[in-house]
Amino acid sequence: MTTQRQPTITEIRHGSLRHHLGDAEAGLMATDTWVVDRIHHYAAIAGIAPVEVFTDPASYAARTGRRISPHCWGQADWAAGRRLVYVDPGRCRTRAAAELVAAHEIGHLRWPAVRHSSRFFHHVQALLDSGQARLCVTARLLVPESR
Ligand SMILES: [Zn+2]
Repeated sequence: MTTQRQPTITEIRHGSLRHHLGDAEAGLMATDTWVVDRIHHYAAIAGIAPVEVFTDPASYAARTGRRISPHCWGQADWAAGRRLVYVDPGRCRTRAAAELVAAHEIGHLRWPAVRHSSRFFHHVQALLDSGQARLCVTARLLVPESR
């Protein structure tokens, strides 16, 4: 008997995000160092650096007091003006998955008011796209903050 559930609208929207990693890199294992670099990369593009980064759930839970469910690959905390990001490379497994989670969590810090709306995911995709464009152009975030 299958116990698969229907994906939530947030999972569907997250699954529609597109990264710009090359095919060879996308399938590689995500490591702590790689994930931390990507989070700082997107934080800089979003104009919210510095951020405090965690790659294991126990450290993030100890810092925030928030428990991480076994199914949670990433989380952001912006309470009281702090900027904390957790992304677990072991749960993401591939760099492709971790890239999307990293941009997603930075999106929460950059646009906290829009939560998981379609507008939020539009902003996150623009963040992923501008991360690619930054290779050629001095970057500033292309998407204005929504109000
Ligand atoms: Zn989210």
